[in-house]
Amino acid sequence: LFFDLDDFKALNDTHGLAAGDEYLRRLGEALARNLRPGRVLARLGGDEFGLLAPETSLSEAALEADGLVRFLTDFSPTFEGRRLQMTASVGVAVHPAHGHRGSDLMLAADLAMHQAKTRGRARFIVHDPSARERERIGLLHGQADRIRSALSSARFVPYFQPISEVATGRVVAAETLVRLREEDGSITSPVEFLDAAERFGFVTSIDRFVIGSAFDALVAQRRRIPPDFEISINLSGLDFEDDGLVADISRLARLKGIRPSRITFEITETAALRDLGRVQDFTAALTSEGFRFALDDFGVGFSSFRYLRDLPMSTLKFDQSYVRDLPLKMENRVFVRGIAEICRGFGVKTVAEGVETPEILSILRELGVDRAQGFHVGYPDPDLPTRPADA
Ligand code: C2E
Ligand code: MG
Ligand code: MG
Repeated sequence: LFFDLDDFKALNDTHGLAAGDEYLRRLGEALARNLRPGRVLARLGGDEFGLLAPETSLSEAALEADGLVRFLTDFSPTFEGRRLQMTASVGVAVHPAHGHRGSDLMLAADLAMHQAKTRGRARFIVHDPSARERERIGLLHGQADRIRSALSSARFVPYFQPISEVATGRVVAAETLVRLREEDGSITSPVEFLDAAERFGFVTSIDRFVIGSAFDALVAQRRRIPPDFEISINLSGLDFEDDGLVADISRLARLKGIRPSRITFEITETAALRDLGRVQDFTAALTSEGFRFALDDFGVGFSSFRYLRDLPMSTLKFDQSYVRDLPLKMENRVFVRGIAEICRGFGVKTVAEGVETPEILSILRELGVDRAQGFHVGYPDPDLPTRPADA
């Protein structure tokens, strides 16, 4: 059994720290006095306690937890003439149903205790093995609310990360990376919310928004960037299920006067894998208008050539996990050199992501990779890159 006093802080605040100390002392004594044989009681932290009850069944443990909740509610010592009264929330976990190791049982009881708190305190909850899963789902629901509110108040913002030509060092393109501006102004990365956005069906709305804002940025900055400057935009696997997206993209580009050849949509293998047929239709329709596609995060997952053969890819992006270790791992250099050569044969451009040092950049030059993206080239920024990076 794991128990925690409900709002011990309030008692300290209203009656003073001395009252809090006295309460804990008296409670410890009272609990110890009433301890059943064989029990071990411990104070685990500020206002947290643990009770170990050997050879106790689940129903006996529940009875004991119930007794503990009542005992704590009734327990009201006086301190300097004032009655100190509190309640506690109790979490119960039993061996072996909820875990074999002590640490697992403690965690299970702790989770149950937190559930008891959220369900109104002054109660006990027996650990439910699926509680952890529910907690995770609860977390996702919270994120879904955040995303909904961010969409309605236009708090998603596009960032742009420069991509340079390895041979010349010239910045020729930028990848659009979405960020969430929180209400307090802080910036949240997409890895924090994309999972929830996909699960709750918001990702296509986010992507539509990103596409629109990337187009807007190109229009707004047209005097500051070269006319052939390219922009890439990430797509999620779910976007291919949105029947209106292809038409909306081409209409929007026409409306804003953007040449489709300047726009590359990035797709990961995992996204393409969902439904290759749909992805083929999607890419074929946009390719016929001049838009381009890139295979993102190549090197993790299957690294299959099927997507290069069956989809109209004009670019392949090496995943940063491959690129980062280029100086250390010979096998990575062999892999990148080989793939880059095959891509050249296919007329497919290669981009290395995660280029963090000048050393990696010079290795890429040797290996024949066309373009570089990473912190060494430039960080993602709310503005489109306008200055060329160093070679
Ligand atoms: P990605 O498309 O592979 O984007 C590259 C990620 O690597 C970005 O993370 C970027 O900030 C990060 N990065 C760039 N250079 C370096 C470097 O030198 N070192 C390291 N360690 N990291 C680097 P970010 O912005 O957090 O995005 C994560 C992923 O979220 C993206 O991976 C992409 O799959 C997805 N994403 C981003 N924006 C969008 C969007 O608008 N729509 C969709 N559907 N997905 C998006
Ligand atoms: Mg990408
Ligand atoms: Mg990538």
